[in-house]
Amino acid sequence: REYAEISLKDIDQVAKSSFPLCMRHLFEKLREDHHLKHGGRMQLGLFLKGVGLKLDDALAFWKAEFSRKVGGERFDKEYAYSIRHNYGKEGKRTDYTPYSCQKIISSTPSVGDHHGCPYRHFSEENLRAALNKMGVGNRAVEDVMDKVRSRHYQLACTLTFEAVHGASCDAGINHPNQYYTDSQKILES
Ligand code: SF4
Repeated sequence: REYAEISLKDIDQVAKSSFPLCMRHLFEKLREDHHLKHGGRMQLGLFLKGVGLKLDDALAFWKAEFSRKVGGERFDKEYAYSIRHNYGKEGKRTDYTPYSCQKIISSTPSVGDHHGCPYRHFSEENLRAALNKMGVGNRAVEDVMDKVRSRHYQLACTLTFEAVHGASCDAGINHPNQYYTDSQKILES
């Protein structure tokens, strides 16, 4: 089933209700810092393409943030290309696909990067704080932390999904875009 395009006016609300933690974190950092490094722009940008953000809206979305940091002119010169590129409108015109959990979990973010999988890459303290902010209850947080300690990051994400939606996710989470569509299915039903 195809989902309705995501529109710019709904994006903040949808980010809160249906983005997995990896994408929520990037989204919030972008809103906060008006900037993301390359790895974060790729991870979030391709995810947003996957959830149905059209190219024109994607350009408007990134420009609104980046222009507050680097100015609109520099955005047009240095950053707009890579967004069009992600949509297959530049370079080899490959239609790049959004990253899977496996790819994100095995990435190696450095200091100042916000991409990666929070279950794998956050400190325990930061992960607990992020889960609390998502509304995951104390007992569920402990279950999530158990999975993290045994390096079952996707299971940790699945437990988070189940805690915030109050519904089971039998297939388990293996892709951020699957997290999104499964969430929308539950919220729309
Ligand atoms: Fe994102 Fe996948 Fe990690 Fe969940 S398990 S936070 S969807 S990378």
